[in-house]
Amino acid sequence: MIKISTFILGDMQTNCYFLIDERSSETAVVDPAASADKIIRKINERNLKVKYIILTHAHFDHMMALEELRDMLRVPVYVHEQDAPALLNPEQSYMNSFGNSKVPGKPADLLLNDGDTLSLGQSSIKILHTPGHTKGSICLITEDNIISGDTLFRGDIGRYDLYGGDFNQLKQSLQKIAALDGDYKIYPGHGSSTGLNTERKNNIYLIK
Ligand SMILES: [Zn+2]
Ligand SMILES: [Zn+2]
Repeated sequence: MIKISTFILGDMQTNCYFLIDERSSETAVVDPAASADKIIRKINERNLKVKYIILTHAHFDHMMALEELRDMLRVPVYVHEQDAPALLNPEQSYMNSFGNSKVPGKPADLLLNDGDTLSLGQSSIKILHTPGHTKGSICLITEDNIISGDTLFRGDIGRYDLYGGDFNQLKQSLQKIAALDGDYKIYPGHGSSTGLNTERKNNIYLIK
């Protein structure tokens, strides 16, 4: 079983998630938004074994603590191949305008693609490529949970006017999420969680 813990971090109130395989305590840190020290404290308090860091996409507000955390934990960083260049480009990640860093980061350790499956203890995480907010935005599906990044929010959708954004792609990605079988709990990049059935009913971009 996967347990999900949420931490709201940074000026943009970004949701950083821990995906924890309960039996083994193996953990994926998703979107280390800010405050590496706080993230490390949470990991140590619970004796979690962090296996990797995943970015839902490479925007500054989802990775302000990335390099510090990567150095401290010495674990690999996973990002979709189409957002990988933004890790090295502070203009594409907006790190130069909002993140107070003109210095490029380090490259990703593993590039993700649609349909990839990552193992975490006894559990697994499936990658769904959902471009539109950025070219390499992904959703993470594990059991009946979707980590939706800035693609889908409760009653709302992500911006498509930033670097690499595309409204038609975003609409297609939202339809792809809506077409999944059954109900899921949705954990977005900002704001409170919701459910896929709720969004199918209330979110105009998911109504068929
Ligand atoms: Zn974003
Ligand atoms: Zn964001």
